[in-house]
Amino acid sequence: MDQEKIRQAVRLYLEGIGEDPDREGLVDTPDRVARMCEEIFGGLGKTPEEHLQKQFSTGSSDMVVVKDITFYSTCEHHLLPFYGKVHIGYIPDGKVVGLSKLARTVEVYARRPQIQEQLTGQIADALMTYLAPKGAMVMIEAEHTCMTMRGIKKPGSKTVTIATRGNFVDNYERQKTFMDMVRE
Ligand code: ZN
Repeated sequence: MDQEKIRQAVRLYLEGIGEDPDREGLVDTPDRVARMCEEIFGGLGKTPEEHLQKQFSTGSSDMVVVKDITFYSTCEHHLLPFYGKVHIGYIPDGKVVGLSKLARTVEVYARRPQIQEQLTGQIADALMTYLAPKGAMVMIEAEHTCMTMRGIKKPGSKTVTIATRGNFVDNYERQKTFMDMVRE
């Protein structure tokens, strides 16, 4: 990441909105934002391969559901946070992964400029690629501050997205089982 470029850009941004970037409260802001970017955009260029490689054998082909994985991401249209919960379900094909590895997978894709629909699909695709279950379904419920801060939607309103892969596609009974487990 080019920290100097971020510092210059934040300084220009502050000037652009009519602020004085040299006043006491703002003088360290460009550097603070540059260092923050390392963390909140730290998923760029990464894949969850290393996390999803740690697999355990299972003889079961019953649905595994991991729900309420908290995430924070950045909307690529406004560079403002959107955040909420990710719910993941899959039908194992001989292998399962630990909860923390799924949470790491979510972080790889959340820590970059994002849109919610794409984040949902990327998590489902990563599962299919690295864990190769018989099918997967991902649901994300999120609040977008670019909407709620600007009063377009009421605070607390949620955007819900889903992605289905493998034997979840067009199998509404299986999708409903996942939804029921998430809502429990
Ligand atoms: Zn936005």
